[in-house]
Amino acid sequence: MSANASPNLHRRILVGLVIGVVLGLACNWLAQTPVVDGVASSRDANADGIDDRLEWVATNIADSVGQVFLRLMFMVVVPLVFSALSLAVVNLGDVQRLGRIGLRTLAFTGMLSVTAVVIGIGLVNVLRPGHSLTKEKQTTLREKFGSGAEDKLDKATATTLANAKKAKSLRDTLLDIIPKNPLQEMVGAIDGSSPGNGMLAVMFFSLAFGMAINAAPEACATLVGWLEGLYAASMVVIGFAMRLAPYGAGCLVFSLTARLGFDILTTLFWFVLTVLLGLTLHQTVVYSIVIRLFGGMSPRSFFRAVTEAMLTAFGTSSSNASLPTALRVAQDELKLPREVSNFVLTVGATGNQNGTALYEGVVVLFLAQLFGVELNLPQQITVVLMSVLAGVGTAGVPGGSLPLIVVLLQSVGVPGSGIGVILGVDRLLDMCRTVLNVTGDLVVATCVARGEKPEAIQPPEALS
Ligand code: ASP
Repeated sequence: MSANASPNLHRRILVGLVIGVVLGLACNWLAQTPVVDGVASSRDANADGIDDRLEWVATNIADSVGQVFLRLMFMVVVPLVFSALSLAVVNLGDVQRLGRIGLRTLAFTGMLSVTAVVIGIGLVNVLRPGHSLTKEKQTTLREKFGSGAEDKLDKATATTLANAKKAKSLRDTLLDIIPKNPLQEMVGAIDGSSPGNGMLAVMFFSLAFGMAINAAPEACATLVGWLEGLYAASMVVIGFAMRLAPYGAGCLVFSLTARLGFDILTTLFWFVLTVLLGLTLHQTVVYSIVIRLFGGMSPRSFFRAVTEAMLTAFGTSSSNASLPTALRVAQDELKLPREVSNFVLTVGATGNQNGTALYEGVVVLFLAQLFGVELNLPQQITVVLMSVLAGVGTAGVPGGSLPLIVVLLQSVGVPGSGIGVILGVDRLLDMCRTVLNVTGDLVVATCVARGEKPEAIQPPEALS
C-alpha cells in the first residue's frame, strides 16, 4: 500500500480548513452572548460567553474527530524519527559526509532563524503594538497579568507558568541531549514528560545508533532491514491518517474558531497583525530568495510542491505531527535524495523553527512595551539570540514554545504571568507559525540536498 493517500489531498485539506473556519466563525457569531464583568448574560453560556451547546459540539464532536487524526499522526512520530534518522546516517555512509550535511543544516538553520527574529523584532519596533492599546486596556491587562497577579490568574496562564517553572539550567539542558535511557526519552517525547531532553535525546540516540551500524555493517544487516520495515510501516500508517486529514484538520480549526470568535482578535489587533506580517514576509520573501539562490528552484514550483505539508502544519499546529507528510513531500514532490531529506527534516522538526523564533521575539518585545520595560539595543540583540536558541529547544507540538517564552520574559524583566495576555490568540498564531517551521525545514532540506548532489533535484518544469 502506498503512503500517498490521495493525489488531490492538499485541495481536500484546504476545503476542510476553509469550511472549518467559516462554520466556526459563523457558529461563534450566532451563539455569542455578551459578557459583563466576567458574567455571561445568558444562563446557557459559559464565562467566555460561548453557548453551552456550541461548547458541547466543539468539545465532543469537533475536538474528538480532530484528536483521532492528531493521535494517528503522533502515534508514529517516535518510530519514524528513530528509523528515519538512523537509516539516514546509515545511507549517508561516511562520517565526513554526515558532518558536512550536519554543518550545512546548522548554517542554514542559523541564518534563517536569525533573519526571522530580526524581521519580527524590527516590525515590533516600527509598529509598536504594545503601545497601540488604549490606556484603559493597558492598565486592565497589567493589573490582570502583571507581577503580584499570580494568585488571580486564569487556569491556562497558571498552567503555562507552572510548566515554565520546570525549565532546567543551560548545563542540564545540554547534558540531557544525551539520554540515560533512550526508551524513557521516547515514552515522553511527545507530551514532554521525559526526564531528559525528549525528542532531541531520541535524535541523539538515533544518530549514535546509525553510526554504530556503519561501524559493523555485516553484523547489523538484519537490523537495517528491520529499520527499513519500521520506516515503511510508519509511512503506511501516515497514509491512513492522511485520509482523515481534511476532516481532522477542518474539525480542529472549527473548534478553535467557534470558541475564539472576533473579539479577542480586535483587542490584540496590532499584536496579531505584527506577528502575521512578520510570518508572511519570512514565508514569502525570505524563503523565496533562499530557495532561488541556494536551492536552485523557482519559488513557485517549490511552494506548489510543498502545499500539502504546509496545510498539514496549519491544521495540526505541530511540526512533529507534520513530519511524516514533510518526509513524503520531500521524496515524492521535491524528489530530494532520501538520506539527505530524512536527516534534515527529522532534525529540523525540533531544531529548526523559524516561525516560532520570530514569534518568541515578537511576544517578548510586545509584552515589554505593554509592561513599560524599555529594552535598549544590546538587550534586543540578546532577545534575538535567546529567541533563536529557544526556537531550537522548542518541542514541535501545539503550544510547545509557551514555557520558553515565559523564561525569555523573566530574563528581560517582564513578569512571566504576562504571557496570559496573548494566550487567547496563541493557538491561532501557533497554526500560522508552524507552517513556517515546516516550510523552513523543507527549504533547508532542498538547499542542503542541492549542495550535495545537484542532479538529485528535478528542474522546476518537471514539478509542474
Ligand atoms: N507548534 C509549534 C510547532 O510544532 C511549536 C510552537 O511554536 O509552539 O512547530
